[in-house]
Amino acid sequence: MIRENITIGMDDIDSPSGGCTTHFASLLVEDLDKIVEEWLDYPNLIRLNPNIPYRTRGNGAVALRFAIDSSKSEEILPSIREMVLEYAEISYPNTNPGVVICKGDIPHELTDFTKRALWRTIPVSLATRVLSRLNLPYFAEGNKRGTIGALAAIGHGLNADYTYEYIAYRSMNQCSEPRGVDAESVFKMNDQMKEKTFANIDSSSQSLLIEPQGPDPVLYGIRGDCPEDVLHAASLVRSEQDAERWMIFRTNQATGEHLEQQIKISYLRPYMSVSVSCTVAENPRIIEGGHVILTVRDETGTIDCAAYEPTGDFRWIVNDLLVGDEIVVHAGVRPASRTHRLTLNLEGLQIVTVVDEVHVSNPLCRECGRRMKSAGTKKGFKCVYCGHKDSSIQKDRTYISRNLEPGIHLPRTSAQRHLTRPSSRLRKRNEPLNGMIAKWHIP
Ligand SMILES: [Zn+2]
Repeated sequence: MIRENITIGMDDIDSPSGGCTTHFASLLVEDLDKIVEEWLDYPNLIRLNPNIPYRTRGNGAVALRFAIDSSKSEEILPSIREMVLEYAEISYPNTNPGVVICKGDIPHELTDFTKRALWRTIPVSLATRVLSRLNLPYFAEGNKRGTIGALAAIGHGLNADYTYEYIAYRSMNQCSEPRGVDAESVFKMNDQMKEKTFANIDSSSQSLLIEPQGPDPVLYGIRGDCPEDVLHAASLVRSEQDAERWMIFRTNQATGEHLEQQIKISYLRPYMSVSVSCTVAENPRIIEGGHVILTVRDETGTIDCAAYEPTGDFRWIVNDLLVGDEIVVHAGVRPASRTHRLTLNLEGLQIVTVVDEVHVSNPLCRECGRRMKSAGTKKGFKCVYCGHKDSSIQKDRTYISRNLEPGIHLPRTSAQRHLTRPSSRLRKRNEPLNGMIAKWHIP
Protein backbone atom coordinates (compact mmCIF):
# COMPACT_ATOMS: atom_id res chain seq x y z
CA MET A 1 0.00 0.00 0.00
CA ILE A 2 1.22 3.50 -0.83
CA ARG A 3 0.09 5.94 1.82
CA GLU A 4 -1.05 9.35 0.64
CA ASN A 5 -1.86 12.44 2.72
CA ILE A 6 -5.05 14.18 1.66
CA THR A 7 -6.62 17.50 2.67
CA ILE A 8 -10.20 18.24 1.72
CA GLY A 9 -11.43 21.84 1.94
CA MET A 10 -15.15 22.69 1.77
CA ASP A 11 -17.35 25.72 2.12
CA ASP A 12 -20.86 27.04 1.64
CA ILE A 13 -22.60 23.68 1.87
CA ASP A 14 -25.71 25.12 3.48
CA SER A 15 -29.03 26.80 2.89
CA PRO A 16 -31.49 28.90 4.93
CA SER A 17 -33.85 25.96 5.43
CA GLY A 18 -31.33 23.91 7.37
CA GLY A 19 -27.94 22.37 6.87
CA CYS A 20 -24.51 23.90 7.32
CA THR A 21 -20.95 23.12 6.29
CA THR A 22 -19.81 21.79 9.68
CA HIS A 23 -22.82 19.46 9.86
CA PHE A 24 -22.09 18.18 6.37
CA ALA A 25 -18.48 17.66 7.45
CA SER A 26 -19.64 15.52 10.38
CA LEU A 27 -21.57 13.27 7.95
CA LEU A 28 -18.62 13.16 5.56
CA VAL A 29 -16.21 12.18 8.35
CA GLU A 30 -18.42 9.24 9.19
CA ASP A 31 -18.46 8.19 5.54
CA LEU A 32 -14.70 8.67 4.99
CA ASP A 33 -13.87 6.80 8.19
CA LYS A 34 -14.35 3.55 6.23
CA ILE A 35 -11.39 4.27 3.92
CA VAL A 36 -9.20 6.55 6.08
CA GLU A 37 -6.00 4.91 7.40
CA GLU A 38 -5.28 7.70 9.89
CA TRP A 39 -6.84 11.05 10.77
CA LEU A 40 -3.98 13.56 10.91
CA ASP A 41 -5.86 16.30 12.71
CA TYR A 42 -9.21 17.16 14.18
CA PRO A 43 -11.55 18.51 11.53
CA ASN A 44 -10.53 22.15 11.13
CA LEU A 45 -13.13 24.91 11.32
CA ILE A 46 -11.57 27.99 9.74
CA ARG A 47 -13.27 31.36 10.16
CA LEU A 48 -12.42 33.87 7.44
CA ASN A 49 -12.86 37.65 7.14
CA PRO A 50 -16.11 38.31 9.04
CA ASN A 51 -16.57 41.70 7.37
CA ILE A 52 -17.21 40.67 3.80
CA PRO A 53 -20.68 41.13 2.28
CA TYR A 54 -22.81 38.24 0.96
CA ARG A 55 -21.96 36.13 4.00
CA THR A 56 -24.43 36.52 6.84
CA ARG A 57 -23.18 33.63 8.94
CA GLY A 58 -19.79 33.34 10.53
CA ASN A 59 -17.95 32.80 7.23
CA GLY A 60 -16.59 29.42 8.31
CA ALA A 61 -15.03 26.77 6.08
CA VAL A 62 -13.91 23.24 6.98
CA ALA A 63 -10.77 21.20 6.20
CA LEU A 64 -10.30 17.44 6.82
CA ARG A 65 -6.75 16.06 6.95
CA PHE A 66 -6.06 12.32 6.73
CA ALA A 67 -3.96 9.56 5.17
CA ILE A 68 -5.36 6.88 2.89
CA ASP A 69 -4.23 4.13 0.55
CA SER A 70 -3.39 6.11 -2.61
CA SER A 71 -5.32 3.64 -4.76
CA LYS A 72 -8.49 4.97 -3.10
CA SER A 73 -7.81 8.69 -3.49
CA GLU A 74 -9.46 8.99 -6.91
CA GLU A 75 -12.86 7.86 -5.68
CA ILE A 76 -13.11 10.54 -2.98
CA LEU A 77 -14.16 13.58 -5.04
CA PRO A 78 -16.94 11.90 -7.07
CA SER A 79 -18.45 10.44 -3.92
CA ILE A 80 -18.32 13.77 -2.03
CA ARG A 81 -19.91 15.49 -5.01
CA GLU A 82 -22.79 13.04 -4.87
CA MET A 83 -23.18 13.66 -1.13
CA VAL A 84 -23.15 17.45 -1.52
CA LEU A 85 -25.75 17.42 -4.28
CA GLU A 86 -27.97 15.31 -2.10
CA TYR A 87 -27.39 17.47 0.99
CA ALA A 88 -27.25 21.08 -0.15
CA GLU A 89 -30.17 22.89 -1.69
CA ILE A 90 -28.44 23.77 -4.92
CA SER A 91 -31.47 25.52 -6.34
CA TYR A 92 -31.33 28.18 -3.63
CA PRO A 93 -29.49 31.12 -5.27
CA ASN A 94 -27.26 31.89 -2.30
CA THR A 95 -25.81 28.39 -1.98
CA ASN A 96 -22.54 28.05 -3.84
CA PRO A 97 -20.80 24.96 -2.50
CA GLY A 98 -17.16 24.29 -3.23
CA VAL A 99 -15.01 21.25 -2.41
CA VAL A 100 -11.26 21.11 -3.14
CA ILE A 101 -8.81 18.24 -2.71
CA CYS A 102 -5.10 18.71 -2.09
CA LYS A 103 -2.71 15.75 -2.08
CA GLY A 104 0.59 15.82 -0.21
CA ASP A 105 2.14 18.96 1.26
CA ILE A 106 0.21 22.23 1.29
CA PRO A 107 1.63 24.61 -1.38
CA HIS A 108 2.96 27.98 -0.13
CA GLU A 109 0.63 29.72 -2.56
CA LEU A 110 -2.34 28.41 -0.56
CA THR A 111 -0.86 29.64 2.73
CA ASP A 112 -0.63 33.13 1.21
CA PHE A 113 -4.16 32.81 -0.15
CA THR A 114 -5.43 32.00 3.37
CA LYS A 115 -3.65 34.97 4.94
CA ARG A 116 -5.45 37.23 2.48
CA ALA A 117 -8.82 35.54 3.02
CA LEU A 118 -8.61 36.31 6.74
CA TRP A 119 -8.85 40.08 6.27
CA ARG A 120 -9.67 40.94 2.66
CA THR A 121 -12.24 40.05 0.03
CA ILE A 122 -11.16 37.56 -2.60
CA PRO A 123 -12.79 37.43 -6.03
CA VAL A 124 -13.96 34.04 -7.30
CA SER A 125 -11.71 34.58 -10.34
CA LEU A 126 -8.60 34.50 -8.11
CA ALA A 127 -9.70 31.19 -6.55
CA THR A 128 -10.28 29.80 -10.04
CA ARG A 129 -6.76 30.85 -11.14
CA VAL A 130 -5.18 29.25 -8.04
CA LEU A 131 -7.10 26.02 -8.64
CA SER A 132 -5.89 25.76 -12.21
CA ARG A 133 -2.29 26.81 -11.47
CA LEU A 134 -1.97 24.24 -8.67
CA ASN A 135 -3.99 21.71 -10.67
CA LEU A 136 -6.19 20.84 -7.68
CA PRO A 137 -9.19 18.54 -8.18
CA TYR A 138 -12.39 20.34 -7.16
CA PHE A 139 -16.04 20.71 -7.79
CA ALA A 140 -18.24 23.76 -7.37
CA GLU A 141 -21.83 24.78 -7.97
CA GLY A 142 -23.61 28.13 -8.37
CA ASN A 143 -21.23 31.07 -8.69
CA LYS A 144 -18.40 28.86 -7.30
CA ARG A 145 -17.81 31.19 -4.35
CA GLY A 146 -17.44 28.12 -2.09
CA THR A 147 -14.04 27.42 -3.66
CA ILE A 148 -12.62 30.50 -1.88
CA GLY A 149 -13.32 29.14 1.61
CA ALA A 150 -12.40 25.60 0.55
CA LEU A 151 -8.94 26.74 -0.61
CA ALA A 152 -8.45 29.00 2.41
CA ALA A 153 -9.33 26.17 4.82
CA ILE A 154 -6.77 23.86 3.18
CA GLY A 155 -4.10 26.58 3.37
CA HIS A 156 -4.61 27.23 7.10
CA GLY A 157 -2.42 24.92 9.14
CA LEU A 158 -3.60 26.29 12.53
CA ASN A 159 0.10 26.41 13.34
CA ALA A 160 -0.02 29.52 15.51
CA ASP A 161 -2.72 29.90 18.14
CA TYR A 162 -5.98 27.89 17.97
CA THR A 163 -8.95 26.71 20.05
CA TYR A 164 -11.57 23.95 19.93
CA GLU A 165 -15.32 23.82 19.45
CA TYR A 166 -17.53 20.89 20.36
CA ILE A 167 -20.65 20.98 18.18
CA ALA A 168 -23.69 18.83 18.94
CA TYR A 169 -26.11 18.27 16.05
CA ARG A 170 -29.78 17.36 16.14
CA SER A 171 -31.57 15.34 13.54
CA MET A 172 -32.26 17.19 10.26
CA ASN A 173 -36.00 16.52 10.57
CA GLN A 174 -36.16 18.22 14.00
CA CYS A 175 -34.77 21.53 12.76
CA SER A 176 -38.06 23.42 12.89
CA GLU A 177 -38.66 22.56 16.58
CA PRO A 178 -37.22 24.46 19.56
CA ARG A 179 -33.89 23.09 20.82
CA GLY A 180 -34.88 23.31 24.47
CA VAL A 181 -31.35 23.89 25.72
CA ASP A 182 -31.66 24.06 29.52
CA ALA A 183 -30.39 27.48 30.61
CA GLU A 184 -29.74 26.45 34.21
CA SER A 185 -27.44 23.61 33.09
CA VAL A 186 -25.51 26.04 30.89
CA PHE A 187 -25.03 28.57 33.72
CA LYS A 188 -23.84 25.75 36.02
CA MET A 189 -21.47 24.46 33.33
CA ASN A 190 -20.14 27.97 32.76
CA ASP A 191 -19.45 28.44 36.50
CA GLN A 192 -17.81 25.05 36.81
CA MET A 193 -15.56 25.39 33.73
CA LYS A 194 -14.33 28.90 34.74
CA GLU A 195 -12.18 30.22 31.88
CA LYS A 196 -11.52 26.82 30.26
CA THR A 197 -14.50 27.48 27.99
CA PHE A 198 -15.72 30.83 26.64
CA ALA A 199 -18.62 32.53 24.85
CA ASN A 200 -21.18 30.32 26.62
CA ILE A 201 -23.36 33.17 27.84
CA ASP A 202 -23.67 36.92 27.49
CA SER A 203 -23.29 38.09 31.07
CA SER A 204 -24.88 41.51 30.50
CA SER A 205 -28.18 40.03 29.28
CA GLN A 206 -27.85 36.55 30.85
CA SER A 207 -28.66 35.02 27.46
CA LEU A 208 -27.29 31.73 26.11
CA LEU A 209 -24.76 31.97 23.31
CA ILE A 210 -24.13 28.24 22.83
CA GLU A 211 -27.32 27.67 20.84
CA PRO A 212 -27.91 29.29 17.46
CA GLN A 213 -31.28 30.88 16.62
CA GLY A 214 -31.85 29.60 13.08
CA PRO A 215 -33.46 26.36 11.84
CA ASP A 216 -30.07 24.67 11.32
CA PRO A 217 -29.04 21.27 12.71
CA VAL A 218 -26.60 22.74 15.26
CA LEU A 219 -28.01 21.95 18.72
CA TYR A 220 -25.26 23.81 20.55
CA GLY A 221 -21.55 24.55 20.37
CA ILE A 222 -19.04 24.82 23.22
CA ARG A 223 -15.80 26.69 22.67
CA GLY A 224 -12.70 26.13 24.74
CA ASP A 225 -8.95 25.76 24.92
CA CYS A 226 -8.64 21.99 24.94
CA PRO A 227 -10.68 19.04 23.61
CA GLU A 228 -11.08 17.35 27.00
CA ASP A 229 -12.59 20.53 28.45
CA VAL A 230 -15.18 21.09 25.71
CA LEU A 231 -16.10 17.39 25.85
CA HIS A 232 -16.57 17.56 29.62
CA ALA A 233 -18.50 20.86 29.40
CA ALA A 234 -20.86 19.30 26.85
CA SER A 235 -21.62 16.44 29.25
CA LEU A 236 -22.97 19.05 31.69
CA VAL A 237 -25.43 20.63 29.24
CA ARG A 238 -28.99 19.32 29.10
CA SER A 239 -31.47 19.88 26.27
CA GLU A 240 -34.96 18.70 25.30
CA GLN A 241 -33.82 17.68 21.83
CA ASP A 242 -31.25 14.91 21.63
CA ALA A 243 -27.89 15.25 19.98
CA GLU A 244 -27.84 12.89 17.02
CA ARG A 245 -24.11 13.33 16.53
CA TRP A 246 -21.27 15.53 17.67
CA MET A 247 -17.80 16.48 16.54
CA ILE A 248 -14.88 18.45 17.96
CA PHE A 249 -13.29 20.95 15.58
CA ARG A 250 -9.87 22.53 15.93
CA THR A 251 -10.37 26.13 14.92
CA ASN A 252 -8.96 29.65 14.61
CA GLN A 253 -11.92 31.02 16.57
CA ALA A 254 -11.05 33.32 19.49
CA THR A 255 -7.55 34.02 18.14
CA GLY A 256 -8.21 37.54 16.79
CA GLU A 257 -6.07 36.72 13.75
CA HIS A 258 -8.30 38.61 11.30
CA LEU A 259 -7.06 41.85 12.93
CA GLU A 260 -3.32 41.26 12.57
CA GLN A 261 -2.90 43.77 9.74
CA GLN A 262 -2.05 47.32 10.93
CA ILE A 263 -3.27 49.63 8.19
CA LYS A 264 -2.93 53.41 7.72
CA ILE A 265 -6.20 55.30 7.27
CA SER A 266 -5.62 56.31 3.64
CA TYR A 267 -5.08 52.66 2.67
CA LEU A 268 -8.38 51.40 4.12
CA ARG A 269 -10.74 49.79 1.59
CA PRO A 270 -14.30 48.44 2.02
CA TYR A 271 -14.69 45.09 3.85
CA MET A 272 -11.14 44.88 5.19
CA SER A 273 -10.68 43.61 8.78
CA VAL A 274 -7.92 45.71 10.34
CA SER A 275 -6.21 47.33 13.29
CA VAL A 276 -5.63 51.07 12.97
CA SER A 277 -3.25 52.92 15.27
CA CYS A 278 -4.65 56.43 15.59
CA THR A 279 -5.40 59.54 17.67
CA VAL A 280 -8.85 60.79 18.59
CA ALA A 281 -9.48 63.82 16.34
CA GLU A 282 -12.96 64.87 17.50
CA ASN A 283 -14.78 64.14 20.72
CA PRO A 284 -17.33 61.29 20.41
CA ARG A 285 -20.99 61.97 19.67
CA ILE A 286 -24.09 59.87 20.25
CA ILE A 287 -26.45 59.56 17.30
CA GLU A 288 -30.05 58.38 16.93
CA GLY A 289 -30.38 54.73 17.89
CA GLY A 290 -27.80 55.02 20.66
CA HIS A 291 -24.78 54.49 18.42
CA VAL A 292 -21.53 56.31 19.24
CA ILE A 293 -19.47 57.93 16.47
CA LEU A 294 -15.83 58.86 16.94
CA THR A 295 -13.50 60.60 14.46
CA VAL A 296 -9.85 59.51 14.50
CA ARG A 297 -6.73 60.51 12.57
CA ASP A 298 -3.26 59.32 11.71
CA GLU A 299 -0.60 60.96 9.53
CA THR A 300 -2.44 59.87 6.36
CA GLY A 301 -6.01 61.00 7.05
CA THR A 302 -9.12 60.93 9.22
CA ILE A 303 -12.02 58.48 9.42
CA ASP A 304 -15.21 57.96 11.46
CA CYS A 305 -15.51 54.96 13.77
CA ALA A 306 -18.89 53.57 14.87
CA ALA A 307 -19.73 51.61 18.02
CA TYR A 308 -23.27 50.39 17.50
CA GLU A 309 -25.99 49.95 20.11
CA PRO A 310 -25.71 46.11 20.26
CA THR A 311 -22.10 46.40 21.48
CA GLY A 312 -23.56 47.38 24.88
CA ASP A 313 -21.42 49.18 27.46
CA PHE A 314 -18.49 49.15 25.02
CA ARG A 315 -20.12 52.23 23.47
CA TRP A 316 -19.71 54.19 26.70
CA ILE A 317 -15.99 53.45 26.79
CA VAL A 318 -15.76 54.82 23.24
CA ASN A 319 -17.90 57.78 24.33
CA ASP A 320 -15.44 58.58 27.15
CA LEU A 321 -12.55 59.13 24.73
CA LEU A 322 -11.24 62.68 24.26
CA VAL A 323 -9.36 64.50 21.52
CA GLY A 324 -5.68 63.55 21.75
CA ASP A 325 -6.17 60.05 23.22
CA GLU A 326 -4.00 57.46 21.48
CA ILE A 327 -5.77 54.23 20.62
CA VAL A 328 -5.65 51.19 18.35
CA VAL A 329 -9.05 50.37 16.87
CA HIS A 330 -10.03 46.86 15.77
CA ALA A 331 -12.58 47.13 13.01
CA GLY A 332 -14.24 46.13 9.79
CA VAL A 333 -14.36 48.73 7.03
CA ARG A 334 -17.88 49.69 6.01
CA PRO A 335 -18.15 51.18 2.52
CA ALA A 336 -19.32 54.77 2.05
CA SER A 337 -22.98 55.33 1.23
CA ARG A 338 -25.26 58.29 0.53
CA THR A 339 -25.57 58.95 4.28
CA HIS A 340 -22.05 58.33 5.59
CA ARG A 341 -18.39 58.29 4.65
CA LEU A 342 -16.16 55.21 4.71
CA THR A 343 -16.52 54.06 8.35
CA LEU A 344 -14.75 51.72 10.74
CA ASN A 345 -17.23 49.41 12.49
CA LEU A 346 -15.59 48.88 15.86
CA GLU A 347 -14.98 45.31 17.08
CA GLY A 348 -12.57 46.27 19.82
CA LEU A 349 -10.40 49.05 21.14
CA GLN A 350 -6.97 49.26 22.69
CA ILE A 351 -6.38 52.34 24.78
CA VAL A 352 -2.69 53.27 24.58
CA THR A 353 -2.48 56.65 26.35
CA VAL A 354 -5.10 59.13 27.42
CA VAL A 355 -4.64 62.90 27.67
CA ASP A 356 -5.27 64.75 30.92
CA GLU A 357 -8.75 66.17 31.18
CA VAL A 358 -8.36 69.71 32.52
CA HIS A 359 -11.05 72.11 33.61
CA VAL A 360 -9.89 75.73 33.58
CA SER A 361 -11.70 78.39 35.62
CA ASN A 362 -11.07 81.85 37.05
CA PRO A 363 -9.28 81.80 40.41
CA LEU A 364 -10.89 82.33 43.81
CA CYS A 365 -10.34 85.67 45.55
CA ARG A 366 -7.64 85.49 48.27
CA GLU A 367 -9.53 88.06 50.39
CA CYS A 368 -13.11 86.81 50.33
CA GLY A 369 -12.97 83.40 48.64
CA ARG A 370 -15.40 84.18 45.86
CA ARG A 371 -14.85 83.65 42.13
CA MET A 372 -12.89 86.50 40.51
CA LYS A 373 -13.31 88.08 37.09
CA SER A 374 -10.74 88.97 34.47
CA ALA A 375 -9.42 92.51 34.84
CA GLY A 376 -8.60 92.68 31.14
CA THR A 377 -5.87 91.35 28.91
CA LYS A 378 -2.66 90.78 30.92
CA LYS A 379 -4.13 92.71 33.88
CA GLY A 380 -4.85 89.71 36.06
CA PHE A 381 -8.13 89.32 37.99
CA LYS A 382 -10.38 91.48 40.11
CA CYS A 383 -13.01 90.63 42.67
CA VAL A 384 -16.39 92.26 42.08
CA TYR A 385 -17.47 91.48 45.67
CA CYS A 386 -14.64 92.99 47.76
CA GLY A 387 -12.71 94.97 45.17
CA HIS A 388 -9.45 93.01 45.62
CA LYS A 389 -7.18 93.05 42.56
CA ASP A 390 -4.39 90.58 41.80
CA SER A 391 -2.22 90.85 38.66
CA SER A 392 -0.04 87.78 39.37
CA ILE A 393 -2.76 85.18 40.09
CA GLN A 394 -3.27 82.44 37.45
CA LYS A 395 -6.39 80.61 36.29
CA ASP A 396 -7.31 77.47 38.27
CA ARG A 397 -6.56 74.21 36.49
CA THR A 398 -8.37 71.13 37.78
CA TYR A 399 -7.16 67.73 36.58
CA ILE A 400 -10.08 65.31 36.31
CA SER A 401 -9.21 61.66 36.52
CA ARG A 402 -10.09 59.65 33.38
CA ASN A 403 -11.92 56.42 34.14
CA LEU A 404 -10.39 54.63 31.16
CA GLU A 405 -8.13 51.66 31.75
CA PRO A 406 -5.28 51.25 29.26
CA GLY A 407 -5.51 47.94 27.41
CA ILE A 408 -8.06 46.07 25.32
CA HIS A 409 -11.79 46.76 25.56
CA LEU A 410 -14.35 44.53 23.84
CA PRO A 411 -18.06 44.70 23.01
CA ARG A 412 -20.41 42.54 25.07
CA THR A 413 -19.96 38.84 24.30
CA SER A 414 -23.10 38.56 22.15
CA ALA A 415 -21.72 41.26 19.80
CA GLN A 416 -18.30 39.62 19.40
CA ARG A 417 -17.12 37.81 16.27
CA HIS A 418 -16.25 34.09 16.23
CA LEU A 419 -12.68 35.29 15.63
CA THR A 420 -12.65 37.86 18.45
CA ARG A 421 -10.00 37.06 21.06
CA PRO A 422 -12.07 37.04 24.28
CA SER A 423 -10.83 38.65 27.52
CA SER A 424 -10.10 35.21 29.01
CA ARG A 425 -7.64 34.49 26.17
CA LEU A 426 -5.84 37.84 25.94
CA ARG A 427 -2.55 36.38 27.16
CA LYS A 428 -3.19 32.74 26.25
CA ARG A 429 -1.72 30.90 23.23
CA ASN A 430 -2.11 27.19 22.47
CA GLU A 431 1.08 25.29 21.60
CA PRO A 432 1.37 23.62 18.16
CA LEU A 433 -0.53 20.30 18.07
CA ASN A 434 1.75 17.42 19.08
CA GLY A 435 0.00 14.81 16.94
CA MET A 436 -2.14 13.41 19.76
CA ILE A 437 -5.78 13.39 18.77
CA ALA A 438 -8.29 12.70 21.52
CA LYS A 439 -11.78 11.28 21.02
CA TRP A 440 -13.50 13.73 18.68
CA HIS A 441 -16.45 12.14 16.93
CA ILE A 442 -18.83 9.21 17.20
CA PRO A 443 -18.13 6.90 14.27
ZN1 LIG B 1 -12.98 89.20 47.08
